[in-house]
Amino acid sequence: MRWSRAFIFTLKETPKDAVTASHKYLLRGGYIKQVGAGIYYLTPLGKRVLDKIQKIIREEMDRAGAQEVLLPYVVPYELWEETGRGKKYGKELLRFKDRKDKPFVLSPTNEEAVVDLVRGVVKSYKQLPLHLYQINLKFRDEARPRFGLLRGREFIMKDGYSFHKDYSDLEREFQLMEKTYRQIFTRMGLEFRVVQADSGAIGGTGSREFMVLAENGEDTLAICTNCDYAANLEVATRQHKPPRENPVKTEEIEEVYTPGVTKIDEVAQFIGVDPYFTIKAVAKKAIYEDGREVIVIFFLRGTDELEETKGKNSIGALELVDATPEELEKAGLVPGFIGPFGLPSSIRYVLDDDLRGATEMVAGANKKDYHIKGAGLLDANLLGNLTFYRDIAQVKEGDLCPKCGAPLKLTKGIEVGHIFKLGTAYSEKMNATFLDEDGKAKPFIMGCYGIGVSRLIGASVEQNHDERGIVWTPQLAPYLVDILISDIKKPLQRERGEELYHQLQTAGIETILDDRKERFGVKITDFELLGFPFCVIVGRDIDKGVVEFRDRRTGEKLKLPIEKVVEELKERLESGIEKGRG
Ligand code: ATP
Ligand code: MG
Repeated sequence: MRWSRAFIFTLKETPKDAVTASHKYLLRGGYIKQVGAGIYYLTPLGKRVLDKIQKIIREEMDRAGAQEVLLPYVVPYELWEETGRGKKYGKELLRFKDRKDKPFVLSPTNEEAVVDLVRGVVKSYKQLPLHLYQINLKFRDEARPRFGLLRGREFIMKDGYSFHKDYSDLEREFQLMEKTYRQIFTRMGLEFRVVQADSGAIGGTGSREFMVLAENGEDTLAICTNCDYAANLEVATRQHKPPRENPVKTEEIEEVYTPGVTKIDEVAQFIGVDPYFTIKAVAKKAIYEDGREVIVIFFLRGTDELEETKGKNSIGALELVDATPEELEKAGLVPGFIGPFGLPSSIRYVLDDDLRGATEMVAGANKKDYHIKGAGLLDANLLGNLTFYRDIAQVKEGDLCPKCGAPLKLTKGIEVGHIFKLGTAYSEKMNATFLDEDGKAKPFIMGCYGIGVSRLIGASVEQNHDERGIVWTPQLAPYLVDILISDIKKPLQRERGEELYHQLQTAGIETILDDRKERFGVKITDFELLGFPFCVIVGRDIDKGVVEFRDRRTGEKLKLPIEKVVEELKERLESGIEKGRG
């Protein structure tokens, strides 16, 4: 491509709302331009990166035996009524009507459509397994679209859906997909982790997320410093440590007057104990699938925090929202002084596992301005409205790995893929069955597998940039080489630059020729901002047949005879791609 003819526009100023590196550099480099909140144009440069991502995904999905289809972006609402998701999905689902007043949705995901495609067509176990995937637009009316391509409202996803006759075959496919995804992200040159993930409200028996490691990631991961344990903080667990003994002993349970002292650290200080020996109460309103709303109290050590996902899963709720002081009072509770001892018997509560067998504890007395101290908890897990222990605490840095006991560390990641065992959740509701070997009709057992295709453009920049701009891995770079003609008015520079350009094209190396009537400074700044892996500067030394070669990632500069350029590039590209990183 000749730069002078290319639709490339770069900005000097960083747009105000762009806070993350990828948002900033993709806008400044003119890879994207905003149309509306969470909706973007992709320019030719952006499209080239997208195409490279898609090519890798297609090759690996096809190799794994999946078949590409194209499902509709606009789907009749009827299908969403069959599964009941139309109501449940909430405001992220964009619903609208056509001229005949018939309701539709813009697909945020396509389970309904794919089940509808397959049902009635796949009739026998002999036609299974089947894996269909697409790369297509999605729309989710996200409450807070942000970070450019990382969280858009309209975005591109690869979504695949597999159909099986039994769970063991689903398990086989799930493992094949984990392997396939690892291969996909490795080929893109990304540093990533595969983590255990929340299976959410749809249930399912297992799910894994693929996380690109990046400081600005929205997800927090707990990773073992010793073994391969890695989990999204939402579901990360820890080894139970034996309770520490409280040096402050009490004869019997005492009530302590604590006027207006409600915060756990203040309570600990007021009474004079380590917050580890206090019981924190987190009051929530749990919302269930059938619309029921129930007040639930989660009790944890004063040094721990509630992990909401674990909390919500512990009681099978769809969502937890904050409960207001008025709602708590109505339920017979005393906000600020809630404790597990003497709690009204109608109140649903969960105790964190780490409180098992705890002694000499300080807790709210369920009475205004009073706490109790010296209270102990059972070690047993009695159900009913008695003692109900679950793992609901958020894992902290230094907590012990549930697998090997070594310390865990926390790190940030961007979710770029999610694989999920759906089971029969959709096929049953949509009456999608096949005839099994025993002649009985059974619902398909399904898996689903997503990749954030447009998010990957952003995630890749989050991981590969410096203070001057993007540093593409060769696998995803829109062009591999920028031939920068230092002074286009010098005929020799122009001629040699053109010759090299044709030579590289013949060698199959994607090249952009910077033939603009611009100063050298402007050109080199653009090269650095746009992040092409290599630059060949055709300048004054061309009199001696010499050019300057630059490596964007390492900053290395070297003088080369112009006829050595192709060889140099081939070597670097091969070794760069082999190493997985540029
Ligand atoms: P998140 O927790 O980030 O909202 P999700 O769990 O809603 O993601 P899935 O429904 O599993 O995501 O969708 C599959 C993939 O699509 C995700 O792994 C992610 O990479 C991508 N994705 C999801 N939401 C967005 C979005 N708003 N913008 C861009 N990509 C997205
Ligand atoms: Mg989401």
